Amino acid sequence: MYKEWGEDEMNSMSIALDGPAGAGKSTIAKKISEIKNITYIDTGAMYRAIALKVLKENIDLENQDHIEKMLLSTKIDIKGNDIFLDGQMVTDEIRNPNVNKMVSHVAKILAVREKMTYLQREIASCKDVVMDGRDIGTFVLPNATYKFYLTASIEERAERRYIELKEKGFEVTLEQIKDEIQERDKMDMEREIAPLKKAQDAIEIDTTGKGIEQVIHEILKYLKE
Ligand code: C5P
Repeated sequence: MYKEWGEDEMNSMSIALDGPAGAGKSTIAKKISEIKNITYIDTGAMYRAIALKVLKENIDLENQDHIEKMLLSTKIDIKGNDIFLDGQMVTDEIRNPNVNKMVSHVAKILAVREKMTYLQREIASCKDVVMDGRDIGTFVLPNATYKFYLTASIEERAERRYIELKEKGFEVTLEQIKDEIQERDKMDMEREIAPLKKAQDAIEIDTTGKGIEQVIHEILKYLKE
């Protein structure tokens, strides 16, 4: 079942990076993984891959049996910065606006979280990792070596996502993005299982108005201590 993760089960170094959508987690985590030469795990991409499968197979989220069957036959692999769903690379596809709308609904389902948490802990038990998500410091790796909680104003987070999506060629407006991430944050914070919240022992960094290098510099200072 969905169990707590004991200290004895971790032999490796881990950095947990949590926070709301668009706070800069994945950009920062990627850079930290390069600088420290450790594995980067984008846990949001894993939930997104499941959401993509739900959309493609038109799965009814109320149908528990169907969800469980789907999970049993689903394979998720992370290779470098790419994510594979049942052997197919879906790195770009999981960023599309339909997945954005669906993902928090999928991520609140117990069976989905159980499977993702199991996979994430398995990777972290044998490798040094930087893992970004919503519940890494609070639930997936409560004994992580370092924990950070990144935030930024809603305006700046929306702007960052807007630029990202525009660059990828999606037709979206800033207002739409703002509404979408606010709704997603609300669902992620209010869900019953492993909601988004700052771990008590996490270091909070507000990235509003800060460049990537500045945030990395702040994080690296803690990692050196
Ligand atoms: O990080 P990203 O915005 O790609 O995450 C997409 C969604 O996946 C989040 O809004 C949340 O619903 C879910 N998620 C989660 N737990 C994590 C990582 C992501 O519930 N550890």
